[in-house]
Amino acid sequence: MGEINDKVINGEGYQLTTLDKALALARSNSIWPLPFATSCCGIEFMATMGSNYDLSRFGMERMSFSPRQADLLIVAGTISKKLGPILKQVYEQMAEPRWVLSVGACASSGGIFDTYSVLQGIDRIIPVDVYVPGCPPRPEQIIDGIINIQKLVQHESMRRRYEPKYQEMLGKYNIKLNDEQGV
Ligand code: SF4
Repeated sequence: MGEINDKVINGEGYQLTTLDKALALARSNSIWPLPFATSCCGIEFMATMGSNYDLSRFGMERMSFSPRQADLLIVAGTISKKLGPILKQVYEQMAEPRWVLSVGACASSGGIFDTYSVLQGIDRIIPVDVYVPGCPPRPEQIIDGIINIQKLVQHESMRRRYEPKYQEMLGKYNIKLNDEQGV
């Protein structure tokens, strides 16, 4: 018998693990982000994609502008209340499993725009997995947020999306889990 290390069994010439672990590893290293960028934080995200910071090191060079082929929604910029329903629609069009990264003060809390027209945080309309602080956050911070998303993905069970707790959380946002969506 080989060495057992966190649900992975290593032996001479072989390695065994669970389907959960193998899928999580594949998913966390091949995330397809959908950038929902509306203002200055979006520019910072573009810099993160450029050759200096090179987000493709994390297996994420494939930006998706179709929600149906994306699993990470990156919201970067000010979101007005008028835009809120569009953002929610984009989130609802994404298949499970899906994650959300809120980039910058505006997306996370409305930032300096405490006004009648600006949404005071996207978590008022969709669930957020990781928040990146800053106005704007530097590319290193955005990368840190993405690494934290990867950690979440790596430790997420295939069954989490069917747990009553998850469905209850979506229910609070008035979002239904589509049964036909993936594991
Ligand atoms: S957090 Fe700052 S940099 Fe980012 S969108 Fe808002 S005002 Fe612009």
